[in-house]
Amino acid sequence: MCMNFADIQKQIGILNQRANFLHVDIMDGHYVKNFALSPYFIEQIKEFTNIPIDAHLMVTNPSDFVKMIATSGANYISVHAEVINKEAFRLINHIKECGCKVGIVLNPATMFEITKHYIYLIDKITVMAVDPGFAGQKFIPQILEKVSQARQWKDKYGYQYLIEVDGSCNGKTFRKLINAGTEVFVLGSSGLFSLDSDLLVAWNKMIDIFIKKTKK
Ligand code: MG
Repeated sequence: MCMNFADIQKQIGILNQRANFLHVDIMDGHYVKNFALSPYFIEQIKEFTNIPIDAHLMVTNPSDFVKMIATSGANYISVHAEVINKEAFRLINHIKECGCKVGIVLNPATMFEITKHYIYLIDKITVMAVDPGFAGQKFIPQILEKVSQARQWKDKYGYQYLIEVDGSCNGKTFRKLINAGTEVFVLGSSGLFSLDSDLLVAWNKMIDIFIKKTKK
């Protein structure tokens, strides 16, 4: 949602050579007070990319959309722990049956322990570093503890999930996020797209910043 929509194909081409995921924010105007992308958008970009597409569902009833999102070409379907409690196991199985990997997303105020009974089933855990719904918000430092906890559980129990942070991943936070155990960074406006209007220039700037900030 942070891309320049005037030139999506060219930007996807740049990301194809460089990114490990394309992160597609889907909002229903209800779970968060905003609208963003859609399964239709995934279907469109799927034609230009082979890298995994992760659909981040900021919706009140994710199970209503799993089939549609899987059919659109998403490789990961990431749902919020806060809304799946009544059907967590059914939903996780449903996502897998549709051929997708399962991501679970935690809001800044949500405890990591909420995932305890199903975390062994999932492929990715996403710790939100800002409240969901809008780009360009301020980093919430308390989330670092949750990233460390995800790292500890992964090491202790041998879980396979990737540890991802979404929101405010940029030069000010890369070092802290790496130290806490972050493996996947969702780059939005502050971390990538605002660095230059040319995405290739922005990407190279981001890499320079990342290396400078994270070298020992
Ligand atoms: Mg997101």
